[in-house]
Amino acid sequence: MSSSSRALPIHAPMPQFAVANEQLLVGGLPLEQLAARVGQTPFYAYDRKLLQARVDELRATLPASIKLHYAMKANPMPAVVGWMAGLVDGIDVASSGELKVALDAGTNPKEISFAGPGKRRSELAQAVAAGVLINIESFREVTELDAIAQDLKLPARVAVRVNPDFELKGSGMKMGGGPKQFGVDAEQVPELLAEIAQAGLQFEGFHLFAGSQNLKAESICEAQQKSYELALRLAESAPSPVRFLNLGGGFGIPYFPGEQRLDLSTVGANLAQIAARAALEMPDAELVIELGRYLVGEAGIYVSQVVDRKVSRGQIYLVVDGGLNHHLSASGNFGQVIRKNYPVAIGNRMTQQEKEIASVVGPLCTPLDLLADRMELAIAQPGDLVVIFQSGAYGASASPHCFLGHPHPVEVLV
Ligand SMILES: *Cc1c(COP(=O)(O)O)cnc(C)c1O
Repeated sequence: MSSSSRALPIHAPMPQFAVANEQLLVGGLPLEQLAARVGQTPFYAYDRKLLQARVDELRATLPASIKLHYAMKANPMPAVVGWMAGLVDGIDVASSGELKVALDAGTNPKEISFAGPGKRRSELAQAVAAGVLINIESFREVTELDAIAQDLKLPARVAVRVNPDFELKGSGMKMGGGPKQFGVDAEQVPELLAEIAQAGLQFEGFHLFAGSQNLKAESICEAQQKSYELALRLAESAPSPVRFLNLGGGFGIPYFPGEQRLDLSTVGANLAQIAARAALEMPDAELVIELGRYLVGEAGIYVSQVVDRKVSRGQIYLVVDGGLNHHLSASGNFGQVIRKNYPVAIGNRMTQQEKEIASVVGPLCTPLDLLADRMELAIAQPGDLVVIFQSGAYGASASPHCFLGHPHPVEVLV
C-alpha cells in the first residue's frame, strides 16, 4: 500500500482501494452492493485487509524487537479493536469505556496500558482490578493507587507518563513539551518516582508521547532519540529496572494535496539504533510505539448519499445525507486551522470522464457543514454515493452525532 503509492498525488481516487466497473471496491465489494448490504447511508466502512497490510508494512520496516500498540481512541469500533487486537502487541486505552472494549476484544490485560489526564478513582480501581498497566500522570494518582491497591489487595502496575522537556517539531497536535495537562513534567519525575517507591506500587517504566499527525520522519526520529535519552536519565531515579518504555508515535497520514507520505524506513532505521542502545543500556526494557491514526486512518471511508443537487449563483452544491455531525474532521472543525478538503470521490462513478467543480455539503443548518469545497468531481445526481477517504481515524467517535437530530451513521468492518 505504501511504496507503490508514494509518488501518486494524494487526492482521489486513493490508491489503496481498487476500482472495478465504475465502483470503488471495499473489502472486495462494489460500493453500491456494500451500501445495500449495510442497508442505509451514511456509513463508515473499514477494510480489514488494509488494516492487516498496514501492520505488515510496519512489521517489515521497524526492528523486530519494537512492540506495536494500537491507540484505540483513533477508532474504538469494537469489531475494529477486536481485529487489531489479533494483529498488534498491545492496546492503549484512555478511559474505562475503552478499557472495557479492549478487554471484551480478548486482549491480554498484561498488554493493555491506560493513559489520560484526570483518571477518576473509579477508573483507576477498574484498571487495577483488570491488571493493566497504568500510566501515571499526576501525584494524586499515586495516592489514589496506593489506597486502591491496599483496598483490593492487588498490585498496581504503573509507568510514569513524562511531559518531556522538548516538543515534537512539525506535529499537527503537540501533546508534550512546555506546560501541558498530560503527564508529569520531566523535572518532577524523580520526586514522583520516590513516591511510587514509597507507596509500593509496581513500577514498570516510562511513557512519552510528544504529539500527533507528523509526516516528517526527521522530527519523529529526533523526538524518539530525545525520549529515549530522557528515559535513560530518569531511569537512574527509578525504584527498579525499566521493563517497559513507550516511545510514543505520532506517525501521520497524508490528507491534503501536496502532503508527502511519512518516510517509514528512516523511522525504522532510527528505531533500530535506539533498540541497539537499549539492549545494552536498558536490557530489561521492552520498547513500544503506540499508533492510532497511522494504523487505521487510511483503511476507512465515510459514505453518504446525494439527496439534492442545487445551483446557487453558478456554484454547484451536492447536498448529502451526512455531514459534520458524523465526520467532524472532514468538515475541518476538528483542530484544522485553515479548512482543506479531504480526498473525496463519487464512489459509484469512479472512472466517469464527465467532471465538474462542485461542493459537497451536509443537511445541517450551518455553513460549517461542508465536506468538499469546490472540488473536481464526477458529475453526480441524487442517489449517487459520495466517498470521503482517509476516514478510518477520528471519524465516527470524534463527531457530534446528536447535533441536529439526524440518524446516526452505521459502522462496518469489511
Ligand atoms: C491520541 C494518542 C495516541 C494516538 O495518536 P495518533 O496520532 O492517532 O497515532 C497515542 N498515544 C496517546 C497517549 C494519545 O493520547
